[in-house]
Amino acid sequence: MDNWIKKQALINPNRLAVDDGTTRYTFAEMAPIVADLAGKVDSLTNNQRVAIETDNSLNGYLMALAVLASGRTILWLNRRLAPEEIERQLTDAAVDLLLVADEMADFKFSVMTYRFSQVQSLPIEKPKMIAQFADDAVASIMYTSGTTGAPKGVLQTFNNHFSSAVSSALNLGLSSHDEWLCTVPIFHISGFSIMMRGLIYGMAVRLVDHFDAATINQILVKEPISMISVVPYMLKRLLTEQENTGTPYTANFRGMLLGGGPIDRQALERCQRLDLSVVQSYGMTETCSQIIALNYADAADELGSVGKPLFLTQLKLDSDGEVLLKTPALTPGYLNRPEALANKKVNGWYQTGDIGHLDADGFLFIDGRKDDMIISGGENVFPNEIENAYADFPGLEAIAVVKKADPKWDQVPVAFYVAEEDLSEQALVAYGRKHLAHYKVPKAFYRIAKLPMNAGGKVQRYRLINTLER
Ligand code: ATP
Ligand code: MG
Repeated sequence: MDNWIKKQALINPNRLAVDDGTTRYTFAEMAPIVADLAGKVDSLTNNQRVAIETDNSLNGYLMALAVLASGRTILWLNRRLAPEEIERQLTDAAVDLLLVADEMADFKFSVMTYRFSQVQSLPIEKPKMIAQFADDAVASIMYTSGTTGAPKGVLQTFNNHFSSAVSSALNLGLSSHDEWLCTVPIFHISGFSIMMRGLIYGMAVRLVDHFDAATINQILVKEPISMISVVPYMLKRLLTEQENTGTPYTANFRGMLLGGGPIDRQALERCQRLDLSVVQSYGMTETCSQIIALNYADAADELGSVGKPLFLTQLKLDSDGEVLLKTPALTPGYLNRPEALANKKVNGWYQTGDIGHLDADGFLFIDGRKDDMIISGGENVFPNEIENAYADFPGLEAIAVVKKADPKWDQVPVAFYVAEEDLSEQALVAYGRKHLAHYKVPKAFYRIAKLPMNAGGKVQRYRLINTLER
């Protein structure tokens, strides 16, 4: 394929490419800026991969495109990781150059490090803009969030990104007025896939650095944003903002793409009351973002479902209910671990590690992760269902359920919760009995200061289980 940056400058030169709220560039304006930066990156390294650590700033966006325009692979670093975790990824990916947002450059890593401003002020080099993005070339490497174990580097090719973007467009539709708000991190597939859609659709990306519900609400009320990607906690805060302020979003607004993790029914019902279009979706780093999603027409009737496989995705469930996939968006493999993907494939079908079920019309519901499933007295129990049942328990701030070995039932659910003070175990059990089958009611409740989360904001249940075993 032609280099997407160059291509958009040719076919849609006057369309808006990117806007950070202060600076706006059309594709024609952006291409030479990217080419200049790419020439500078080129002068710094011969390595095929370049690491980037940034928030959703315009400079971070341009720097990422510059790495691609120079013909290299972006190694995306999650800026919320601890320095030693980042160091491990830099070593695993064998990079020799790290480009870092100026305000984040306070830690010294073992590789040559350049702040964005230092790259920008290098002497003018020959601009660079490679002619093509080869289908099978690796555009980006992203480490999985490590919810279930050690992070692995997922290779994402241009073709993976392309098929993901096309599938999404076939589901959500496309208009030349589309503008996608990107407040989910660009170092995560949820954010980077918006950048890639921008280049493939010729669509504007509205970058927002930090998620602040009041600020985002203001933008959606004033600016012609058509789509925004959100994870569950963002959705809930934006709903509260809408409920409190009451000013609707602009007429350009088409909907929210929701993904990343399970959502409770109450939140979806609040969306309905506000007449807010929310499209549930399911995907993972390995599939370059959503591969299963609802469409607008079904979104209201299929509360709780993550939808149907997008056009290029094939889906089936195995006898245990594990979600199996075939899709051109699937990674060709994990960095330095050729066996790791092969181990997750059976007859060409990728095993996601998630358990789900289909309803009679073919809508998929995700029950939870296979590893988290609790088998108690022969019944399968998913932590998520129990946690959702407790969502409204008075005084409870957060709760996570895990499995514990039990001599009688093999496994039983136990709960860790966060609250100002100890809650009555009796009341917690009584509440559970009212809302859940007996075997789903946690057999013990432990109060802790906070739930262990990974850098992506997901609860690390294995760490809670480790505390039980000690
Ligand atoms: P690791 O693979 O290192 O344990 P991770 O799987 O959490 O990390 P991601 O690729 O960011 O890293 O997340 C994908 C996972 O998130 C899916 O496999 C699934 O378990 C969960 N998920 C994504 N979307 C949804 C959804 N709509 N509902 C329920 N779970 C979801
Ligand atoms: Mg995973």
